[in-house]
Amino acid sequence: MAELKRAFICGWPVEHSRSPIIHNFWINKYGLQGEYIKHPVSPSDFDDFVLSLHNGTFLGGNVTIPHKEMAFKLIKNLDPVAKRLGAVNTIWIEDGEIHAANTDGYGFLANLDQLTPNWDDASLKQKKVIVLGAGGAARAIIDAVQSRGFTNISIVNRTYSRAENLAGFFGKTTHAHKWEDLPNLMLDSALLINTTSLGMEGKSPLEIDLSPLPSNCLVSDIVYVPLKTELLQQAENLGLKIAEGLGMLLHQAVPGFEKWFGIRPEVSDELRALVVQDLEQNS
Ligand code: NAP
Repeated sequence: MAELKRAFICGWPVEHSRSPIIHNFWINKYGLQGEYIKHPVSPSDFDDFVLSLHNGTFLGGNVTIPHKEMAFKLIKNLDPVAKRLGAVNTIWIEDGEIHAANTDGYGFLANLDQLTPNWDDASLKQKKVIVLGAGGAARAIIDAVQSRGFTNISIVNRTYSRAENLAGFFGKTTHAHKWEDLPNLMLDSALLINTTSLGMEGKSPLEIDLSPLPSNCLVSDIVYVPLKTELLQQAENLGLKIAEGLGMLLHQAVPGFEKWFGIRPEVSDELRALVVQDLEQNS
């Protein structure tokens, strides 16, 4: 019998993660002898865990909160995106060495490409991109959006100093703004993205009036519980294009699976339905 190939999601806590549903779906679909497991590791044990990856128990795995920055510090073979962002979400072993990448931005872009082709049309690249939030997800998404040639990015955050820091990190294409600037910023924007946790089930609502947005603006929310957030519902009621956050989660998993199992997996309707079913039953 072929040896069981194993991959992990490592976090603290990790119980809530939907990644095992995604990867075990693909393992079954492609007929592999493998498993993808939840592996809770506390911050004080994380460096030992990374070292232990040399013993070959795992092909690799994902890291989530609170280990993304520590993984960046511990692993020296980094892809260019992880190097830029200072955070890692995907680890694999190659030629006996530990490698790492950050695929959040890839997942964000691939989701938009699939749901709303032409969202990055050349005619839109001088327009504003509004990013709500200034945390780790905002950093990955700004990097990704910049990589598609958008050069006018506005960061709006509750804590203004964090927006300023993030704008400083990216340089002259990116500017920090206060929440009250939103109505003016919206007038000339091509894309508005919520990267805060506002609007998530159990969290405070995201109270924002989208009516100043141009009719061709795309509204994206990376919160995916609920699947269609109030922000997206409002955008849809205004006739705007929308992109749900679940697709980002599904697409960011693709490069890792390919590294571990050697097959580039498909983000299909069947996979999406399986994760939606779990969200409906367990949220
Ligand atoms: P983070 O680094 O902790 O940043 C959280 C952001 O939300 C900060 O900008 C914070 O503002 C803002 N925020 C939180 N509570 C707020 C409130 N009550 N009022 C106003 N702003 C508030 O978190 P993250 O890693 O960037 O993740 C952010 C969200 O994205 C989470 O909900 C996460 O689940 C989701 N996410 C989704 C995917 C996906 O695949 N779809 C991937 C990654 C993350 P302050 O700076 O003022 O605190």
